[in-house]
Amino acid sequence: MTTVAAYAAPAAKAPLERTTIERRAVGEHDVLIDIKFAGICHSDIHQAREGWGEAIFPMVPGHEIAGVVAEVGPGVTKFQVGDRVGVGCMVDSCRECENCLRGEEQYCLNGIVGTYNAVGKDGEPTYGGYSEKIVVDENYVLRIPDGLSLDVAAPLLCAGITTYSPLSHWNAGPGKKVAIVGLGGLGHMAVKIAHAMGAEVTVLSQSLRKKDDGLKLGADHYHATSDPKTFEELAGTFDLIVSTVSAPMDFGALLSLLKTDGALVNVGAPEEPIALNLFSVIGGRKTLAGSMIGGIRETQEMLDFCAEHGIGAEIELISAAEVNEAYERVLASDVRYRFVIDTATI
Ligand code: NAP
Ligand code: ZN
Ligand code: ZN
Repeated sequence: MTTVAAYAAPAAKAPLERTTIERRAVGEHDVLIDIKFAGICHSDIHQAREGWGEAIFPMVPGHEIAGVVAEVGPGVTKFQVGDRVGVGCMVDSCRECENCLRGEEQYCLNGIVGTYNAVGKDGEPTYGGYSEKIVVDENYVLRIPDGLSLDVAAPLLCAGITTYSPLSHWNAGPGKKVAIVGLGGLGHMAVKIAHAMGAEVTVLSQSLRKKDDGLKLGADHYHATSDPKTFEELAGTFDLIVSTVSAPMDFGALLSLLKTDGALVNVGAPEEPIALNLFSVIGGRKTLAGSMIGGIRETQEMLDFCAEHGIGAEIELISAAEVNEAYERVLASDVRYRFVIDTATI
């Protein structure tokens, strides 16, 4: 076991503070990673505040991890000391169910082991990326391509794959009109990726406050959902809408913007349910779907795609002591566009 410094929430809704945690000894197939950067995902905040239900405390959040391999177990074949690597939202799964076997470990039928706020196969709680080091089985570790700096690569491990996966699954590409709802951490990655895939991209944000940024990120159009004219003008326009919104919103209104046979894919995980009039899907044979992160193979594909297209996250690099303030800014939709903790400051 190794004792490492970390930032943790001691209890639900309590501010995060510096502490120490134990990392397991490096096992046969484990990789010890010196964490360099950890992104702050809105999911960290939902969980640290028990917005999704009962959680495990103390909680060390963080599932957008980028670092360098410091040690490998004797059975490790994929990584060497010095490799640039990442870890996302899961650190294990059953490896035997049909979803694991086809590389969609995120939908493991026996449940994934989350990077934090979960219990590992050793029976111990898992702790995430707001820390100096982490020990992870090599099969759940990703390679960060040389062309990507570690700080802007960290958010790809959740925000990147969570948007890449549905964009790829629902065939965003040339000739497709794609709308991204919410220009936050996930939303800004969705705009960059959909643009790189060749789609015509529209941002639907609460206001026009971030319009200039949205267009620079690769959007072709930008509209405010607070303006009722948006819904008149864009009715029946999109092949695909990806909603990244962290709070309940009017999905009926979003569905009215789809073409016949269009799909609205939700990746946001609000704490409250929504009400939906089902007439919004039956007229126009529309699909309302969801999507959760991505499998290990697809996450590597996404990292390689981002390196090839020169895509990293737009980040505000902060010290660990600024994490509580950063949480408040995320909650106020005041993030441009991902906070990343420099873990050397922990
Ligand atoms: P974020 O950076 O806070 O972005 C969310 C964006 O949603 C905000 O920037 C804002 O965009 C919009 N928004 C917030 N409140 C709103 C409201 N009341 N009405 C309308 N729009 C609102 O959060 P994130 O890290 O991107 O995460 C977004 C959501 O996805 C969270 O719920 C998170 O837990 C979830 N998530 C899911 C997965 C998955 O696997 N499915 C993975 C990661 C995260 P504008 O200012 O542009 O309106
Ligand atoms: Zn996340
Ligand atoms: Zn499984």
